Amino acid sequence: MLEVRNLTKRFGGLLAVNNVSFHLKTGEVVGLLGPNGSGKSTVMNLISGALMRSAGEVRVDGQRIDGEPAHRIARRGVARTFQLVRLAPSLSLRENVLLSVAFGPEPLWGADAVRRADAALDRVGLGGMGDRRVPDLNYIDQKRLELARAIATRPRLLLLDEWMAGLNPTELKTAIDLIASVRDGGTTILLVEHIMEAVRALCPRCIVMQAGVRIADGPTAEVLADPQVIDAYLGG
Ligand code: ADP
Ligand code: MG
Repeated sequence: MLEVRNLTKRFGGLLAVNNVSFHLKTGEVVGLLGPNGSGKSTVMNLISGALMRSAGEVRVDGQRIDGEPAHRIARRGVARTFQLVRLAPSLSLRENVLLSVAFGPEPLWGADAVRRADAALDRVGLGGMGDRRVPDLNYIDQKRLELARAIATRPRLLLLDEWMAGLNPTELKTAIDLIASVRDGGTTILLVEHIMEAVRALCPRCIVMQAGVRIADGPTAEVLADPQVIDAYLGG
């Protein structure tokens, strides 16, 4: 359902993403791994339209989306969380979710939208907090709200960028179950995550990047045993 072909992003002289290609099938959960600065967030930003590619193509269900603005890509059912949370601080939690529902693939308004938003808040563990405001939330709850915004749109493709960072072991187990339930609902997921417990639990397949280049793509156990991948991590 997702086809990334020869994707390239330059920041001045830096090749942050260098000719990267991969495909995701509908319903797959694939890990996107690599040391800091290897280009993972940039790939997410290029797919979701937060950044414009320098070269290459991105297709969802066969249709080109590279070059489209982020809001059009969201309409096509692509949702994401940001590594650094991006929420509307003056709005309530419910309003934050309502906004993403309104701009998602099946826009809802009124009571239907509120029901959808409250269900998403419930699902991420923020049930009953719809009237609270973003500044009242700690960091973990802000990340929960980011996920609520994404899943409330019922995305076809969900991009998670280090969404589990900072969770304690109990929260991590709950988070893994939650992502598994999103997958079971039919959502395809690309997961950037440093927590190997989560990668092993959720991702039968992983892609690894180093310095902007895709250096591995295959079954998780094989990829993690690949000497080039081990070197990439040890070499930083
Ligand atoms: P990762 O998510 O794998 O840690 P990033 O995709 O954030 O890596 O960054 C890849 C490289 O691109 C890094 O060298 C980073 O400093 C650089 N980079 C990322 N975003 C920008 C930007 N907006 N402007 C300039 N350089 C950037
Ligand atoms: Mg990143």
